[in-house]
Amino acid sequence: MIDLAHATSLLTVDVGAIVSNWKRIGALVAPAEAAAVVKADCYGLGMAQIAPALRAAGCRSFFVANLDEGIALRRLVPGAVIYVLSGPVVGSEPDFAAHELIPVLNSLAQITSWSAFAKAGSAAPAAALHLDTGMSRLGLNESDLERLVAKPEILTAVRPVLLMSHLACADDNDAAMNKTQLGTFRRLTATLPPIPRSLSASSGLFLGRPYMLDMVRPGAALYGLNPSPQHPNPMTQVLRLQGKILQVHDVDSPMTVGYGATHRVARRGRLAVVGVGYADGWFRSLSNRGHGVIEGVKVPVVGRVSMDLTTFDVSEVPVDKVYPGALIDLIGPGHGADDVAAEAGTIGYEVLTALGRRHTRRWIGYPSAQKEGVRP
Ligand SMILES: *Cc1c(COP(=O)(O)O)cnc(C)c1O
Repeated sequence: MIDLAHATSLLTVDVGAIVSNWKRIGALVAPAEAAAVVKADCYGLGMAQIAPALRAAGCRSFFVANLDEGIALRRLVPGAVIYVLSGPVVGSEPDFAAHELIPVLNSLAQITSWSAFAKAGSAAPAAALHLDTGMSRLGLNESDLERLVAKPEILTAVRPVLLMSHLACADDNDAAMNKTQLGTFRRLTATLPPIPRSLSASSGLFLGRPYMLDMVRPGAALYGLNPSPQHPNPMTQVLRLQGKILQVHDVDSPMTVGYGATHRVARRGRLAVVGVGYADGWFRSLSNRGHGVIEGVKVPVVGRVSMDLTTFDVSEVPVDKVYPGALIDLIGPGHGADDVAAEAGTIGYEVLTALGRRHTRRWIGYPSAQKEGVRP
């Protein structure tokens, strides 16, 4: 089980809070279905612990990015519907069938090879079709779609069960592009069979009823990131990252801190050196900008963040609270991943997916999570 004595950092994931975020979204979008996006190991938080809990709570449909994530997920959620967003690369079709994974077909080339595969045998699963309505990332554009509609035999072989697209500007409620994309999606899908449609990820959830369609695909909101940054975060926080203080310095004469000597301590005070650095996903761009929290006191990062260590100015914290072995909150209540991201010059998604492999991890708040214990 968990060995805190070995740890220089502790990452706690509240699986119960993730499940309750999913339930909240389900209630918000009903009768549309709330799927769960669990790609990139649930945005770095642990698919093996989280996906089964979501499944047990009633989640039926899951999205992953690629085939190997799908194969790993299939073992965790037997019986669930699993969509693979990148679709099949040539030659991987039989593995989709073997693991009952639904490919998201993003191009005419993918559709053509999938239909050939489906025609050759009877075991091919159904597929989803991705239409590009403005991301210019993956998906069929309008002329691709016209060519597809002209070949009904291909569409018949592919057996689409979901039509999807993705919003480019959903985190801005006022962006005109949201309406444009919704309009384009409606117009394009009208030329296809009347099967379920999905447009919105986390941010689209807050654009209103027309954007729900038949299914929503939230990821970030499940993991506590703010889906509509112009408003207070409606989601429950799920994550706490604590770093352990390794050494404390009393400073009584001027000195500099860290590589490049970028911070100079001019007055009397105390510094705490914490065993977390950029190799742990605590970004180097937090140097002289980020902060932690100890006993409710904000403590600034001073000097450069290095690979394994970060120094904080803890002069304002009661002396008896700062000692080797004490924990300082790096991400946590009142100082979430979005806040750290703002200080680091990035987005919460990157803070989560960059969380390092060295953290001692524990999953709490859900029966199946407790059984999983801590990753060795
Ligand atoms: C990652 C992804 C999602 C989930 O996005 P969030 O913003 O994390 O909710 C949904 N759909 C597609 C196509 C994606 O790539």
